[in-house]
Amino acid sequence: MPERPSLPTDPLVEEVRALASRLDLARRYRELDRAPAFPRAEYRALGEARMLGLPTPEALGGRGLPLGRTGVLLFHLAYLGGTTFAKLSLQPEFSSVLAEHGSPALVDAYYRPLVRGERLVGNQLTEPGAGSDARGLASVAVPEGDAYLLTGEKSEIAFAHEADAAIVYARVPGTGAGGITAFLVPQDLPGIHRADPPGDLGERWQRRSTVRYDRVRLPRELRIGEEGRGFDYVQTELTREHALLAALYLGVAWSSWDETVAWVGHREAFGRPLSAQEAVAFPLAEDSGRLEATWLYTARVLDAIGRGEPVAREAALAKWMAVETALAVLDHAIQFHGGRGYSQEFPHEQRWRDVRSGRIAHGTSEIMLRVAAREIWKRPRGEAPRA
Ligand SMILES: Cc1cc2nc3c(=O)[nH]c(=O)nc-3n(C[C@H](O)[C@H](O)[C@H](O)COP(=O)(O)OP(=O)(O)OC[C@H]3O[C@@H](n4cnc5c(N)ncnc54)[C@H](O)[C@@H]3O)c2cc1C
Repeated sequence: MPERPSLPTDPLVEEVRALASRLDLARRYRELDRAPAFPRAEYRALGEARMLGLPTPEALGGRGLPLGRTGVLLFHLAYLGGTTFAKLSLQPEFSSVLAEHGSPALVDAYYRPLVRGERLVGNQLTEPGAGSDARGLASVAVPEGDAYLLTGEKSEIAFAHEADAAIVYARVPGTGAGGITAFLVPQDLPGIHRADPPGDLGERWQRRSTVRYDRVRLPRELRIGEEGRGFDYVQTELTREHALLAALYLGVAWSSWDETVAWVGHREAFGRPLSAQEAVAFPLAEDSGRLEATWLYTARVLDAIGRGEPVAREAALAKWMAVETALAVLDHAIQFHGGRGYSQEFPHEQRWRDVRSGRIAHGTSEIMLRVAAREIWKRPRGEAPRA
């Protein structure tokens, strides 16, 4: 066994490393925090290098990789370029509702170009009055002739100003299951209004903001799948997303762990390297165990999803555990770099701010635990246990 945890391996890791070096992703990651913008050039380059849509079927332009291998490559992208480029790589995955339920014409017009890095498709589910409880959304798409009229407000939306199109969820009145329906909405239609981004703690390149729809006319061809099925579609996507995001958060934290181990091995205080102080060394040793264990769990969950097993509980726990592990590791990285760790001289504070979004985005930590608890007590209670 190696004395330190070794990074997960895959035949394509060298390709990821070469691309990260060619595009200077580590530097761009820091730049995009200071001057937030959507990195269109890198997005395009990732598409050309076939790093968007790693698990997307080859027939749709992706690599068709198993989820387990995808997780390893996302881990490395995140290790080298923070959350930004790994999340970009996941954009087609975040839009799999379109790939799986959109008409062939919509897939050709939006999904394939998304995988090539030519078009950006966002997701708009959250509203001012409905986030965790997304079923409570109030936006409506009212049928009128051969179209729908979309009215409502979507909040917390990544790429609100930059997306070429978005998958928007709205209620079609009079349909079953609350009528929540998915639409592919080109973002240049008349009647769409956007607020300025208020500015975020981390993930600043996403420039999150609010998008308001005022009787926006959507031809029927823009509907994705059936009326009233939008929420079912997104649920399936979420399980995969949770486990893939876990891989990404661990990659970010692992890079800070490696850098901190090197730092405390050299930095001297009280006549010895910091690594000779148990108060410094023990937390880092604990972190190595947490990182490895959480990675092994995540890899197992990804393989299980790939085999088609129902692992909503495990995927939710993987995301929750990965975020908590990563935040603890990143906090130690800040701490053991001392005053400089707290500054922008090192990337640890940015990584912490970016990963902190993981407790909220794509389902909050409380909702991850709610999913897990729901699964645990799903079966009939049976007989009461005896003392
Ligand atoms: C970086 C980032 C990017 C995002 N991008 C997008 C995007 O592109 N598109 C999009 O649609 N949304 C996006 N979101 C929004 C995100 O999905 C929501 O913020 C999230 O689902 C929480 O919803 P909310 O903000 O309304 O919080 P609320 O639902 O109001 O929750 C507030 C708090 O209450 C807790 N809570 C709520 N219900 C329960 C419960 N039943 N049990 C226990 N605790 C509960 C929550 O966990 C949370 O801690 C993004 C968010 C972030 C941070």
